[in-house]
Amino acid sequence: MRFEELPTPCYVVDEKLLENNLKILNGVMERTGAKIVLAQKAFSMFKLYPLLAKYLNGTTASGLYEARLGYEEMGKENHVFSPAYRDDEMDEIVLICDHIIFNSFSQLEKFKDKVLKAGKKVGLRINPECSTQDGHAIYDPCSPGSRLGVTVDQFRPELLEGVSGLHFHTLCQQNADDLETTLHAVEENFGQWLPQMEWINFGGGHHITREDYDIPLLEKCIKRMQDTYGLEVYLEPGEAVALNAGYLVTTVLDTIKNGIDIAILDTSATCHMPDVLEMPYRPPLFESGEPGEKPYTYRLGGPTCLAGDIIGDYSFDQPLKPCDRLIFGDMAIYTMVKNTTFNGMPLPTIAIKKKDGDCEIIRQFGYEDFKMRLS
Ligand SMILES: *Cc1c(COP(=O)(O)O)cnc(C)c1O
Repeated sequence: MRFEELPTPCYVVDEKLLENNLKILNGVMERTGAKIVLAQKAFSMFKLYPLLAKYLNGTTASGLYEARLGYEEMGKENHVFSPAYRDDEMDEIVLICDHIIFNSFSQLEKFKDKVLKAGKKVGLRINPECSTQDGHAIYDPCSPGSRLGVTVDQFRPELLEGVSGLHFHTLCQQNADDLETTLHAVEENFGQWLPQMEWINFGGGHHITREDYDIPLLEKCIKRMQDTYGLEVYLEPGEAVALNAGYLVTTVLDTIKNGIDIAILDTSATCHMPDVLEMPYRPPLFESGEPGEKPYTYRLGGPTCLAGDIIGDYSFDQPLKPCDRLIFGDMAIYTMVKNTTFNGMPLPTIAIKKKDGDCEIIRQFGYEDFKMRLS
């Protein structure tokens, strides 16, 4: 099927762009010996896991279901972190995961023996209390009062027996300079316990596949932890794996005026690209400009009842009209994994753009997908 023939709304992941990202990540792995696993919460399009498996060491999960998906569909190293595990899921988790990372010493004490008995690795998430991002408190695990990771004043070294690694995750869309800053805080607070560990996990939030990312500095950070403490280094990016590797194709349904020109699309910010509202950010849109840059400016919105279901203001060379197709960029990550059927909105079709340009529909959704979750 040609790209132009795909039904809308449709998430399209571009295999070639995805593989370009994977090659960049694999380069870091090859040059440093670090291990990189996919954080599935950003991108769980498991149809493409065989491609990812060629380049990455495995998967990480935010809980049992993602862990099971990684186990079933990737089948490589499988890690999991959760702020708190349930008693009734631990048997399955120790069966399918290789690294089980705990958020507190109480959880560690509760489950450690079970993990070790299963022959799996126990990790502990630490909070280096080093905020390197400003503005996005909801994305900052180091913000005051954060529930994510053990702070140094709660650290109980007498309970470290059996713990083979420390994990931190404090970054979000950041460059290697912030990683370097964070590592200094990790060493300052927790450095005395690093020599007794086997591994350290740098978490995600490393925007490694972004053009301006400082890969040599990342590699320097990795090597320093390897050389200073004899640690195996793990990274678990989500965004960087599929950054800019997908589109959301949508159709204009109507245009209206209310002081400004408005276009209603068959895709919704709140249902299909919720980070546009949560983050918030302005998604790239092909063949458009900033408001006023091109002759025709429109506010693009979704068909839900939410007044704030607005994707943003964009300008075009020609007036928009019903049936025009628009293509948003960078729509592979934090989209499919977060979408909803609020207002009874249909879920977008999922497709792959293959290397030869041909497009294949992987899955389509209908009324039953909306209904079945409601009773
Ligand atoms: C979100 C998250 C990741 C991935 O973060 P990205 O920003 O998508 O790279 C990795 N590890 C943990 C613990 C996370 O919560």
